[in-house]
Amino acid sequence: MESNDYNDPAVIGGCSVPVRVNRKSKAGPTIVEAGGIRIGSKEVVIIAGPCSVETREQLIETALAVKNAGGVILRGGAFKPRSSPYNFQGLGEEGLKFLEEARALTGLPVVTEVMDTRLVELVAGYTDILQIGSRNMQNYPLLKEVGRLRKPVLLKRGMMSTIEEFLLAAEYILNQGNEQVILCERGIRTFETTTRNTLDLSAVPMLKHLSHLPVIVDPSHGTGHRWMVPAMAKAAVAAGADGLIIEVHYKPEEALCDGHQSLSPDEFTRLMTDLRKIAQAVGRDIYQHENK
Ligand code: PEP
Ligand code: MN
Repeated sequence: MESNDYNDPAVIGGCSVPVRVNRKSKAGPTIVEAGGIRIGSKEVVIIAGPCSVETREQLIETALAVKNAGGVILRGGAFKPRSSPYNFQGLGEEGLKFLEEARALTGLPVVTEVMDTRLVELVAGYTDILQIGSRNMQNYPLLKEVGRLRKPVLLKRGMMSTIEEFLLAAEYILNQGNEQVILCERGIRTFETTTRNTLDLSAVPMLKHLSHLPVIVDPSHGTGHRWMVPAMAKAAVAAGADGLIIEVHYKPEEALCDGHQSLSPDEFTRLMTDLRKIAQAVGRDIYQHENK
């Protein structure tokens, strides 16, 4: 089921590109559609919202701020993959209900993480896009389960995964018949310690070279520092990303999770202004709400 493409001069070291995600398997790029938003077109899609859904007020206020600044998809984790079992694990189904309410109020489609095969149906019933987190990129039963759905999947790169392993994980989903997959570069582990992860922006042109799937970047987990997020967000768009997923919190200093890397609504609004200029400079646009 795999085609070896060792002769491609752009594939350094030789990367076996699986057949279904392979760019050569299709005439053009895949456009993923979620709640009326097209990801993978000329327009760069900005996804934003809190790391975790914490309270109704926190989510609604943040969602309104994201929408006002021009974000077109709302993020928020209800089931959280926390490194420590003693940290906030998310609100679970209650969080999904708040996401549903925020979507109804703002009109923004939502993306939220699913960590467990037993919860795929439940989470899919609430969300527009299912997120598979970095820690689950190689959870093959989970990949197969979301592959059986006909719903977009945002697949994050494993923190220790090569491009080839990342593409093979996406192949698991496509292999089950679900082609609506968005690849997300979110940083990998290296020897560097000043940043939370090393954001591999070279993955953007490489993934787009090898695959027809849309590629987005997460500069929040990719750096771990709020002050670095705008620079890397702009660099990602310049590098050809089809979208960004950015952590925004209405009160970052009070966040239960990842406040140190979350933008305030003001910071996010300023970044959106800059992103429009960067997008224009590279022949793209930032996706806009239809009513704007
Ligand atoms: C997240 O986006 O909330 C998250 C946990 O990210 P990652 O899986 O990339 O660590
Ligand atoms: Mn987070």
